This record gives sequence, structure tokens and C-alpha cells, in this order.
Amino acid sequence: MKLTGALIIGANDVPATEGTMKALNPATHQLIEPAFALGGADQVDQAATLADEAFDSYSHTSLARRATFLDSIADNLDDVRQALAARAALETGLPAAQLEGEAAKAAAQFRQFAEVVRRGRFLQLAIDPAQPDRQPRPRMDHRLQKIAIGPVAVFGASNFPISYSVAGGDTASALAAGATVIVKAHNAHPGTSKIQARAIRKAVQDNGLPEGVFSMIRGGGNAIGEALVDHPLIKAVTFTGSEQGGMALYRRAQQRPEPIPVFTEMTSVNPTFILPEALAERGGQIGDGFVERMLVNVGQACLKPALLIAIEGAGFDALRTAMVKRVSEAAARPMLTPGIHAAYLDGLTAMENAGASRVAEGYAVNALLDGQSALLEVDGAIFLRETALAEEVFGPCALLVKVRDADEMLAVARSLRGQLSAAMHLEHSDLQLARRLLPVLERRTGRIVVNAFAHPQEVTFATVHGGPFPASSDSRFTSVGMTSIERFLRPVCYQGFPDALLPEALREGNLLQLPRSMEGAFVGAS
Ligand code: NAP
Repeated sequence: MKLTGALIIGANDVPATEGTMKALNPATHQLIEPAFALGGADQVDQAATLADEAFDSYSHTSLARRATFLDSIADNLDDVRQALAARAALETGLPAAQLEGEAAKAAAQFRQFAEVVRRGRFLQLAIDPAQPDRQPRPRMDHRLQKIAIGPVAVFGASNFPISYSVAGGDTASALAAGATVIVKAHNAHPGTSKIQARAIRKAVQDNGLPEGVFSMIRGGGNAIGEALVDHPLIKAVTFTGSEQGGMALYRRAQQRPEPIPVFTEMTSVNPTFILPEALAERGGQIGDGFVERMLVNVGQACLKPALLIAIEGAGFDALRTAMVKRVSEAAARPMLTPGIHAAYLDGLTAMENAGASRVAEGYAVNALLDGQSALLEVDGAIFLRETALAEEVFGPCALLVKVRDADEMLAVARSLRGQLSAAMHLEHSDLQLARRLLPVLERRTGRIVVNAFAHPQEVTFATVHGGPFPASSDSRFTSVGMTSIERFLRPVCYQGFPDALLPEALREGNLLQLPRSMEGAFVGAS
């Protein structure tokens, strides 16, 4: 597959206006051909104008047509799966086999959203019929459906270059909602982004949809992202990345003349609590499993378990020994970008400066961007004093916190900021402590896992990938799973409408056979 470096704005390949850039192979530290175009505010304006022009038509496509479009994106992604994984491997240093799995997951996600669209439950149709005889005054007919929020800006993530990038869950859920999408591609994987963007554009064209349904832009630095968030035709933003970047964009969006929602997924240490009986019975096994998950994607995963809390006593030595062994045997592997690599080294130093001791290290590095795995340890009392120890260090490391007793374990849990996930390892006799821990975790996380690790994650209707700040900027929503579509929907009430003017989904007779509620009671597809 021949790659070209142009931006994709609607149907057009748009050449560079602000210079070009090349991808870096983090394993060899060599630049890779071809050069990719960088754009600026003019390209943002072109893409936003097209997205706005396409919005009315696209958001009113029938559910069947929109679902077919999403299925075609999935088919197109399947057609390029190997080329996509091969290019992503060059640009990320991650194994091609893993990336093929990611591409398959991305395609599956579009198919899952196609099914969500067909079922129509996301429209949340509600009918409260007129009550002309109601006293003291009659009630008009009220009907509600959710509609797409408007053109959406998606900031692709660096760490999962397919399933959280151009053809990731944000794009899939926004398109499913009926929103038009502009992706600001991450410069860590420009070729991978381009292959995905082409697959989506082809589906737009094959399905006869307006060209502005999808565009992909890139730039060199913050200016293009800022212009995108500032653009008056953009009505919502999604972002996966650093707390600093996410909050800069969030604040910017709130300062617009018309503030808009920004859904950021930022930072989490995914605390794992081992309760005493589980520690005594299988401390070594849990430690081994923890490190295995910590090393996935060279630790560059939002769900990396980064914090392990256990009470000193029976099983603690077995836990520690297993973790030290597993970390010491881990080969150093290339990290995604020079910036992420540098931040990893700084993060380890910050943890040591805050009082944590490095108790194990993986094999030494061979190449410039290799991330050497590390296990650090600290006592609960120091952890509670040094807030820096609770910060995410993106990379193949974790912190083992040795607490004195159950009360100190609870104090550590209470000290944490918002998280994407938390896990508890427990046996039957741990239930009493688990019941004390549970409300503390519920207040701080979007997902609680028992006797397993938070990573990997399924994409289902019950999935939650979000949580109180700083895990995300809005804990009411998830960025992964079928309900992530809700970020891009808003309710509209149609009051006193003649049937012929109502949206089809709300008309008498329910010819579309969609699930609806009547006076608040679910009446199904009838
Ligand atoms: P990032 O620096 O936050 O950048 C993410 C995207 O947002 C990039 O496209 C970036 O554009 C853009 N951006 C960031 N700040 C911006 C600003 N102020 N104005 C306009 N655009 C802005 O994330 P990253 O490059 O992926 O990695 C950096 C760090 O983020 C990592 O070391 C890690 O700590 C964290 N991270 C966390 C997760 C997670 O899931 N928890 C995932 C990825 C990264 P440019 O690159 O063009 O500036």
C-alpha cells in the first residue's frame, strides 16, 4: 500500500501548508518515509465548514443507512488490517501481532456501534401523550428523542494507535450518534493514522454520504489543536492523553464565547488492593499477574496497574519476591516517543525523590528509547505524606505500598484522586474489609474489579472507562463501551407536534419498531 502524506479534508487530499514531518521508528531511532503534511488554522476551518455542512444531512440519515456505513468502515479496516499493523509496528515499536489484534478490535467496535444504531435504544425515545381533559389545565403532547450534538473534534491517543486513534472508539461512537467528525491525528503515528482515515473516507464515499462527515488533520505543535477547539462550528471535543494537555484544551473550550463539552480521559494509577487472606493464600500468584499486566504495551496503557497496596504480614514476602523476579526478567522495549520516554525517566526520579526505593529493574536498555522496567516500594506512612507518589508514571513501572494494617489500607484508598479503575483481590474471609473499602473506591473510580486486573478491558454495554477527575473531565460518561455514544447526544422535546411533522422515530404506530417509553414506562418496540 502506497502511503502519501496529504491531509484528508472531506473528499480531498490536501497538501502541506505548514511544512511536513516524518514518523520516528522508536526501535531504530530512524525517520520513516514518507513526509506527512502539516496544516494550520485554514485547514481546521475547511474541515469544520465541511463538517457543519454535512451535519444536517448525516445526522438525519436513517438508522439502517448509518449502521450500514459503520459496517463498511469495519469491512474497510479489515481489508487493510495487515498493512495497518505493519505500519503501526514501525511507528510505535509495538509487536505487529498485537497491533493486528488492535485493528481487529477497532473493526469490531464499528460493528458493535452499527448494532447499537440499529436497535435505536440510544435515541431514548419518550412519549407523554396529551391530556386534554387534565385539570386545572390540559397537558400538551410531549415527545423526546436524543439527537447528535454537532460536529465533534477527536484528539487521537498516542498509546493505542488504532483502537484509541483515528478509527478508535471516539470516532466510532460519534459517527454512530450521527455527529460529523474531525480527527486531530497524533504525530506519533502519522502513517497508521492515514491508513485508518482512508478506510473511513472510502466508506463515506461508497455509502454516498456528504464528504464532510469525516476529516483528518494534523499540525506541528499546539496551534492546530487550539484552532480546532476554538472553532465556533465544533460542538464537542474528545481527548485521550496527559492531564496537562487535556486540561489545557478543557479550559480553552470553557473560555469560548460558546463553551462546549470536552470529554478528556487523562490519568489513572488503577490501584490494586490485596486483602489479607488473599495475600496469605496467593500473594506470589497475584504479584506475578500484576507485573504481567503492568508490562503490557511497555506500561503505556491507561489501565496499567501502577499501584499495589498490601498489608505487611503473611504472604507479603511471596508477593514481593514474585514481583521482583518478574520485573528483573523483563526485557527493555522501545517506548512510543522521545517525550514519553523522557517523562518516564523523570517520573521514576520523582518517585525516588519522594521516598520510594527501587527494589527491582528489568534488563538494561539497548536502544535510545528503551524503557527499562522498574519496581519501587514505599511504606504506607510515606505514601500518605508524599502526594507525588500517587501520580501516574507512564511506562513499565509500578509502586508497591506496604501498609501496617487495614486502617492504613483504607487511608491510602481515601488519599487517592479519581481513577479509571481499581481492583481488589480477596477471599471469603476478606469480605468484611472489602465492604469497608468498597464505598471508598466507588467514590473514586469508574470500575471496580474483583480477583482480576483492570486490563484488558471488554467493550460492552456495561463497560465504564471514565471516573472522577483527573481520570476524566466528566465522571458521568464513559469513553469506551456502547454507552460512550451518550457523550455526543442531547435531548430535544417536541411539544404539540402534528404526527406528520414529528421525527419518524416518535410517530404514532411506531413503524420503525423502536424501543420507546410511554409516561415513563418502557413499552418496547411496539
Ligand atoms: P499529550 O501530550 O497530552 O498529547 C495528546 C494530543 O493532544 C496530541 O495530539 C497533542 O498534540 C495534543 N495536545 C496536547 N496538549 C495540547 C495543547 N495544550 N494544545 C493543543 N493540543 C494539545 O499526550 P501524549 O503525547 O500521548 O503523551 C504525553 C503523556 O501523556 C505521556 O507521557 C503520559 O503521561 C500521558 N498519556 C496518558 C494516557 C492515558 O491513557 N492515561 C495516554 C496517552 C498519554 P501535539 O502532539 O501536536 O502537541
